[in-house]
Amino acid sequence: MQGDFEAHARILRQLGAEVIEVRTPEDLADLDGLVIPGGESTTIGKGIESAGLEPAIRALHAAGTPILGTCAGMIICDAEHLGLIDASARRNAFGRQLQSFEADLEVEGIGDEPLRAVFIRAPWIERSGPGVEVLASYEGHPVAIREGCVLASAFHPELTDDSRFHAIFMAMATSVSARDGAKEEAR
Ligand code: GLN
Repeated sequence: MQGDFEAHARILRQLGAEVIEVRTPEDLADLDGLVIPGGESTTIGKGIESAGLEPAIRALHAAGTPILGTCAGMIICDAEHLGLIDASARRNAFGRQLQSFEADLEVEGIGDEPLRAVFIRAPWIERSGPGVEVLASYEGHPVAIREGCVLASAFHPELTDDSRFHAIFMAMATSVSARDGAKEEAR
């Protein structure tokens, strides 16, 4: 409903996913994964509320469905918003002079080659609980994390040609989908 969803859709399609845009709670049924994109967290939060998406997102999370939150989407997942991760994001954390910048990051789980990361008025993770795995940091601040089925980044992995961060998410979604498929078959 707001933000950078088209770039996510393009990269996920390249990786072989079938992508739909979620606007109603019904759209959330039968997903193997949900992306909450960057944009403006206050606007996205209001959109989630006015569309009545919150219970359906919570149900998806409770079922262990992978959720990727990027930038504003990471803020939406945090403890002060939907509470899907035991972590708090600080909005616009890098300050005014660093509204937008790029950096090469070492990211756990994508191999040795650094990832070119695009930060736009980005948050960082200010506090995180013991269950939160930090996948990447920039200047000592966590900027990519994972907890259970939630993967989140302060940067925009959809704005470069490098699909390795989305590949982590795809692997999470594929394994949950395979698990659910096996459950269906056992019935
Ligand atoms: N600064 C925005 C916010 O607080 C996030 C920016 C982004 O998603 N690129 O919500």
